[in-house]
Formats: sequence, C-alpha cells, structure tokens
Amino acid sequence: MSDQGVYIGTDSGATTSKTGGIFADGSIISHDLRQSSTNSAAGTDAVIAGWIDGAKGFLADNHLSWDDVKGVGLALPGPYQDYGVLAKSSNLPESFIGWNFWADYSKALEAAAGRPLPLATGNDGDLGGVGEAHAVRGDQAVGVVLLAPGSGLGCAYIDRHGDHLAGDNFAGMEAGHMPAPLHLLGHPPVYTCGCGKGWGCIEAYTTISGLPQLLRDTLPRYPDHPLATSTEPDKKKVLSLRDLAQQGDALALDIFDFQAKALGLHAANLVTALDPAYVVIGGGLIDPGATTAEFRQRYLDGIRNAALPYLFTRQQAEVKFVAATLGELSQAIGAAFVARNATRS
Ligand SMILES: [Zn+2]
Repeated sequence: MSDQGVYIGTDSGATTSKTGGIFADGSIISHDLRQSSTNSAAGTDAVIAGWIDGAKGFLADNHLSWDDVKGVGLALPGPYQDYGVLAKSSNLPESFIGWNFWADYSKALEAAAGRPLPLATGNDGDLGGVGEAHAVRGDQAVGVVLLAPGSGLGCAYIDRHGDHLAGDNFAGMEAGHMPAPLHLLGHPPVYTCGCGKGWGCIEAYTTISGLPQLLRDTLPRYPDHPLATSTEPDKKKVLSLRDLAQQGDALALDIFDFQAKALGLHAANLVTALDPAYVVIGGGLIDPGATTAEFRQRYLDGIRNAALPYLFTRQQAEVKFVAATLGELSQAIGAAFVARNATRS
C-alpha cells in the first residue's frame, strides 16, 4: 500500500507490452519493467487481457494493489482515427482498424479495480518523450524536443507543463516526415519513405528505414569495402553497420556521420519552431548497451555541430543536446506521467 497513490503506464508494442509506474510525486516505482506478450494475433480481447495481466503483475511485484492506483496510461503506436481509436497500423492486424481500445481498456480496468479508473493514451513516440523530458529536466518548467531514430524517427515535443504536442488530428510532431534540407547534405537523391509523401522525408536520412539507400549511395566511395561485393540481403548489410562503426570502420562511420548531420539539421529546424531548452537524442545509436562511449560522443557532437550554425544566438548558448537516459523504460514511464497529467486539477 502506498500513502500517496500511484500511476501505472503500459507501453504496448506489437509483440511485447511493458508495464511500469510512478508514485504521485513523480518518482519511478521500479526500474524493472514487467514484460508480457501483447498477443495481437489472438485478437483485441487477448491484447486487453495482456495489458491487465501486466498491470496486475506490476502491482504484485511492487507490493501495491488496485486501491493504490489513481490513473492509468497507455502508449500504443498510431496512427489513430480518434482519441483511443486505432487507424491502420503497419504492425497490427487489419482487424484492429477502428478498434476503440480506450473504451475497451477502460471497461477492463474498471472490472479489475472494482471502480472506474481514469485512462490516458497517446502514441509511443510522444509518451516516450514525456518520460525522457521528465528525466532530463526534473522540476524545471522548460520545453524538450525528443528525437529517437530507430526503424523510424520518433519525434516528440513536450511543453513546459509536461504535456506532449499531440495535435488536433492525432498527428502532432510527425516530424520524421518533414523534408530533409538536401542542399545542406551534399544533394543526395530524394529517398523514398513509407509514408509516401515523396518529398525526401528526414526519416529516410536518419534511421534504419533509409539505410539501404544511404549505403547504396555511400559504397561507391569505398569500392574495396567487403560490403561492396557482399551478396547478403540489404537488411542484413545495414544492420551490420552499427557494430562496424564501433570497430572504427570508415564506411560505417561515414554513414553515421551523415545521419548525425542530417539529424542535427532537423534538430535546428525544430528548435527554430519550438525553442526548447533541451534536445534529447534517443535510439539505438545512443544505446550504451550497443555502442561505445567514444561513438556516442561522436554521434552527439555531429548532431550538435550540424545544428548550432542554424540556431539563434541565445539558443546557441542555451539549448542543451543530451542523450536519452531511460532506455526501454521511457514509454511506460511516460504513459504513467501522462496519466498523472490527465488527472491533475
Ligand atoms: Zn515520410
């Protein structure tokens, strides 16, 4: 039993859901996430049951009960048709289109807790940003931009009150699909992006999604590199680059230097519009479990150095470029913070 009450957050991925939580004062209950299967192949009822099981297990692990819970948050990848209603998602079955997961999960939570519980939801990138923003700024009332390159480019803006910019059409901060400034990047071709906009989305120049195209265009400068003659599938080739870069491979470093520059220019774009105090960089290239300290510093410096010339003078001195710190926790913890934000008076 907790004197102050708790907020539970679930980060629902396509295959695995993670549950975490915070106390009402914002402190993190546990750095051990509760992992459970999302079970999306078995339908929406099974997914809901998995979220409830995850919450129950997390409460039991931490000697808490439903009586302690003041609110619940859920991070689920969009896009959405409406608040808490899924649109077509690339990672979930077609039958999930139009699913009002907010209504179904609210009902299941009420049954589990024996009383209605407030439920807040948002897309995983935004809620991960809420978690990271809280970690980086503590009690300062300042804005935070999060850029997390992975398979796509997760982008979030968290305002001084701790709220994420969700937008009015559930597409706020889909900033990975803004165009890259190709003239500042040596005029690479317009890379294709899964969103279909066709204007050279920055996501394609900064993440795994566009790496096959970037590798194709970089390899001619390294004709003797083993990847130049490799017959491995593209996907395998690009996924070898991060490890190669840790070993000092010139081609791999060239590619990630390019990605850092592209991401830095994009950070400058976003800072120009949003004027945050912090730019937090997340994703696999900043993961201490997979990269060396030297590589992470090089990547972060590359981002900052590309951004600085395009910031206003005060921003050049004040905006801090920092690495994300919560790792896998960020989205579940962010979901718990969004639940707390939603219930504040
Ligand atoms: Zn795009």
